[in-house]
Amino acid sequence: MKKPLFPAVFLDRDGTLIHDRPGHYLSDPAKLRLYKNTIPALRLLRKLGFRLFIVTNQSGIARGYFTRATAEKVNARLEKLLAAGGARIDETAYCPHGPNDGCLCRKPLPLMGRKLIKKHNIAAERSFMVGDKTSDMEFGGKLGLKTILLRTGHGQTQLRKPQALSATGHVSAGILQAARFIKHEIQDSHNADSHGGAASRR
Ligand SMILES: [Mg+2]
Ligand SMILES: [Zn+2]
Repeated sequence: MKKPLFPAVFLDRDGTLIHDRPGHYLSDPAKLRLYKNTIPALRLLRKLGFRLFIVTNQSGIARGYFTRATAEKVNARLEKLLAAGGARIDETAYCPHGPNDGCLCRKPLPLMGRKLIKKHNIAAERSFMVGDKTSDMEFGGKLGLKTILLRTGHGQTQLRKPQALSATGHVSAGILQAARFIKHEIQDSHNADSHGGAASRR
């Protein structure tokens, strides 16, 4: 018997769920600051039945700015804050490497997502990637996810890159707008299904 497949939203961390200061690598869990709409957004996504995953590049580890243990403390505090607000995260994955390390897990390479999809029985075609960089969009595209670029974090400057729009499915102002967009997307595809598939969509 086949295991059930679940839809998921893959979330970048810095500039997507929490404030990201340019050139500043977050190494102190106490300095972590959620965007004010992060909890309402993730609660909405959970209510819609999505599994939630955080996928984050933490090259500050490779650069020697902080250790893996520190990065894991920041991730744990984030998960705790979100869970306390009713927005539980199923799993956080991070890449500890730098851009020149030749690893297979740094976004835009899809390995972190591939492992989560397999482990948690995720239906990629019903799932989304939300982030503030074109590398997040490329990552989502490689996994067959629908992609949403936020204008928070690096989003506004990333939009000026020529490759931004080709890799991006949709642009949202912030995390809550992205969650609402996802809600409408799944309702639309539901309506299309209930009309006998006449309006077949991909
Ligand atoms: Mg980011
Ligand atoms: Zn890596």
